[in-house]
Order: sequence, then structure tokens, then C-alpha cells
Amino acid sequence: MIKIAGLGVAGSYLYLRLKNAGFDVMASEIKREDYYIPCAYATNQIKINTLLKNIDIKIDDYILTHADNIRIGGNGFSGVDFHSSGLVTFDKNLYEKDLLKNIDYTTQPINVGRDDIIIDATGISRYYLGQIADDLKFYTIEYLTDFSDKKDFYFFFLKNGNGYFWSFPLKNKYHVGVGSVNISDMNMVKKYNRLKITGRMIRMKPLFDNMFNDNVIGVGESIGAVSPLTGEGIVPAIESSEILYQAIKKYSNINDIKECYYNDIRKRFNYYNALYRLVRNINNGKVFNLNNVMAIRSAKKSMNDFGIDIKFKTIFMHFI
Ligand SMILES: Cc1cc2nc3c(=O)[nH]c(=O)nc-3n(C[C@H](O)[C@H](O)[C@H](O)COP(=O)(O)OP(=O)(O)OC[C@H]3O[C@@H](n4cnc5c(N)ncnc54)[C@H](O)[C@@H]3O)c2cc1C
Repeated sequence: MIKIAGLGVAGSYLYLRLKNAGFDVMASEIKREDYYIPCAYATNQIKINTLLKNIDIKIDDYILTHADNIRIGGNGFSGVDFHSSGLVTFDKNLYEKDLLKNIDYTTQPINVGRDDIIIDATGISRYYLGQIADDLKFYTIEYLTDFSDKKDFYFFFLKNGNGYFWSFPLKNKYHVGVGSVNISDMNMVKKYNRLKITGRMIRMKPLFDNMFNDNVIGVGESIGAVSPLTGEGIVPAIESSEILYQAIKKYSNINDIKECYYNDIRKRFNYYNALYRLVRNINNGKVFNLNNVMAIRSAKKSMNDFGIDIKFKTIFMHFI
């Protein structure tokens, strides 16, 4: 049996994909019904729609705001405007709630049997995979607010690549938040009117060499499928689940599934390792470095994947 722990975007997608294909699958999820999910709700409409077609869901039903102008500032940038190539906010709380309605799950821990495949989709906690020593997690805090001084999508990158502040519109409200290596940066949101407050650590390091623990296989944020530059984790989480689904469909032996999944995750997300090294170099003041120049292409790709139509020259100048 395939047992999935965690029904966030990664686990719920994988559950429905497997169930609809006739696999014997069960799931466990612990969040309360009224839990306000810590997330800025931004995604690339085109990319997420392509994936969600596989489970007969249209993201269009959940969209709150389409990006028109995207302003990126910080680190010597007074602010540069970009066009959108699909960036939107969507109601992720409602989306996850709706998906749960179609899933028969338990709130109890999974009973790990020797013959089962256990999927760890527990995100930051890696509850079944276990923690690793040199992980990298940033602090985050986010307010739901009714007023922001930025009307469209706004990113402000902090000094030394330490993280960023965001203000994203949600129809007539906003998410303002900050993710940073420094807890003191959480003060940046204090000036806003707080309708709701949320936050949790976010994994900023790809853990593609730590995706397995015996018969446990990780997907989504548990394996660091999060852009080390933008913190984008929704589409990457669903993509990792799709990659695992394809491996499970192809092979019945768990070792073959693991090998296929490992190789395909590497193919799709290896550029996150280059991005991680880029961000760490900048954190450590190593700005003028040949590897950084090579990684700028990865930075551009990560921005484009998120739905921001950014040009190579502009991103190059940001890091110099
Ligand atoms: C403040 C903040 C803002 C963000 N903004 C964006 C954004 O705008 N766009 C974007 O693309 N990404 C964003 N991200 C990242 C993105 O939200 C995550 O990377 C993505 O949701 C990960 O999906 P997941 O399914 O792997 O994990 P999660 O969404 O974290 O889901 C994990 C699930 O597992 C459950 N769980 C945990 N432990 C157990 C257990 N022991 N047993 C059973 N269930 C368990 C949890 O309740 C949860 O439902 C943001 C993250 C943060 C923290």
C-alpha cells in the first residue's frame, strides 16, 4: 500500500493522481480545519494549470489577482518593473480545503509497514524522512492586511541575499511578509494593519541527496523542492509529486522507483543546486565569483518559472 503523510499541495496532488489510477493509497493529515496556511499564494498560472489538469482541477476557479506590473527592488535597486509571464495569486486555503473534501484521510500517524511505500509530504518537518544536520531554513512572517503601500506585486530583496520582503495583492486585500535568515528582519511587517498573522520556517536548501529513508520517499518541500532564490514552492512541490507518480506508474519495485525518481528530480531541479550555491556565496560576501556568473542563468530561469518576465541583463546587474 502507498501511504501519504501530509496533504498540502504535494501530498494531495499525489494522492488524487494515484487514487484515480487505481493504486491502493491512504493518507494522513494533521492540520486543523480553520488553519490559515502560511504562504503568499503566488504562483505561475500557466504552469500550475498544466499540472492540475491531471487531476481535473482548474486553478482559474481560485485566482484572486493577475499580476500586471511586478516591481523588484533592493540591494542597490531602487525598483525595476517587469511584465508578468503568468504570475497570479490564488486562494490556496480554499484550494487545499476543496481537495481534502475528495480525500478520505486519517488524522492519526501513519503505521509504517515493511511492505508499504511511505510518502513524506510533511513539508518543513520531514516527519518520516528525519532531519539532516546541514539543512537551511529561513524565518518567515506574514500578515493578511487590508492596505499596502504597493498596489501590484512587489519583491524587495534584502542585503547580502538574506531573503526578501513581499507585498502581493489578493483582490481587495494583501499578503505582506518577509522571509529571511535573520529573525530581526521579521520587524519589517510591523507597520501594516494585521487582519491575520502567520508564519513558519521555509526550507531554502535542495535536499535531493536526502530524499529517501528506507521505504520512505519525500516529495515537495520535504526534499527542498523550493527555489533558493524566490522561495517558490507550490509548483515545484506538485511537479515533484508528478515525477514520483510517473516513477510509481512505471516500476513496481521500490528500488527502481527510487532510482527513477532520483534521476528525474535531478534532471528537473538540478539548477536549484547552482542557485543555492549562488545565494550562499552572496550571503558570505563572495559576489565576484565565476560560479556566480554561471548561476545567473539559473536565477533568470527561477524568476521566469515563477511567472516574472525578467531579462538576463537586469538580473546580472542585481548581483553585481
Ligand atoms: C510564509 C511563506 C510564504 C510562501 N509563499 C509562497 C508563494 O507565494 N508561492 C510559492 O510558490 N511558494 C510559497 N511558499 C512555499 C510553499 O508554500 C511551500 O513550499 C509549498 O506549499 C510546499 O508544499 P508541500 O505540500 O511540500 O508542503 P506543505 O504545503 O507544507 O504541506 C505539508 C502538509 O503536511 C502536514 N503535516 C505536517 N506534519 C505531518 C505529520 N506528521 N503527519 C501528517 N501530516 C503532516 C501539514 O499539516 C501540511 O498540510 C511560501 C512559504 C512560506 C512559509
